[in-house]
Amino acid sequence: MSILKFEGAVIEILPRSKNIKSFRFKRPEGFDFKAGQYIIVTIAVDGKNVSKPFSLSSSPTEKDYIEFTKRLTGHEFSNALDSMEVGDIAGISGPFGKMTFEGKYDKIALLSGGIGITPMRSICRYCTDMGLDTDVVLICSDRTEDDMIFWKELMQMMEHNPNLKVFQTLTRASESWHGCRDRINADILKEQIPDYNTREFFICGSPGMVKSMVEMLLSVGVPREKIKRESLAGY
Ligand SMILES: Cc1cc2nc3c(=O)[nH]c(=O)nc-3n(C[C@H](O)[C@H](O)[C@H](O)COP(=O)(O)OP(=O)(O)OC[C@H]3O[C@@H](n4cnc5c(N)ncnc54)[C@H](O)[C@@H]3O)c2cc1C
Repeated sequence: MSILKFEGAVIEILPRSKNIKSFRFKRPEGFDFKAGQYIIVTIAVDGKNVSKPFSLSSSPTEKDYIEFTKRLTGHEFSNALDSMEVGDIAGISGPFGKMTFEGKYDKIALLSGGIGITPMRSICRYCTDMGLDTDVVLICSDRTEDDMIFWKELMQMMEHNPNLKVFQTLTRASESWHGCRDRINADILKEQIPDYNTREFFICGSPGMVKSMVEMLLSVGVPREKIKRESLAGY
């Protein structure tokens, strides 16, 4: 899969929550990627070019555009991106990354923390659009209800894809949340994925989240070689 470097105009900006936005660019001819990969995005920040990595939240099956989804932090790069409008140009290179899914495994488990949902959305969309038999369980951990981006779409995917199951936990939910409030732990794993020892794992989130998930999986006997991960350094 060759790495492309190109300049693209923003074709659409989609607000996903109070502080999360998706940015779409026309997918150039020959830009091939695997679900789970990331791109490097370059924009001008105070007159200087600054580059940051972002997982593709779009799926290889979405042919017309590529999309990344950014948690807006109020920091310099984030503000510069947030001020971009349709038609503005960004530098893009990619794809990069090894936390990929191409349909190779019969059963997978996806563990996401916060904005770490982005490559997981790509993988779920890919499996659903391709009509794969792969059995997928996604466990998402977020702080509040507002952080549950892609939730409606994931529910719609589940209607079309009987092999997809999604479970959500919220660590700082409002009082009206009746679901799980714990961080992802071994009890949740065993309850939601009783056959966890037969699955390939994909983890994406902050470096701290990824580290603790790897430790938790190793502690319940999942072999290291069955764990793929993407750590969103800088997140
Ligand atoms: C492989 C990979 C994939 C990723 N995918 C995603 C993704 O899909 N979505 C996503 O949102 N992020 C993703 N990230 C993280 C992303 O690249 C950025 O690092 C992150 O979004 C923070 O960007 P920022 O706009 O806050 O950056 P900056 O503005 O450059 O800030 C970066 C950090 O510098 C410090 N900082 C900067 N300015 C200030 C200030 N004024 N005051 C205090 N501290 C400051 C903060 O610690 C801040 O977190 C990914 C990272 C990796 C490695």
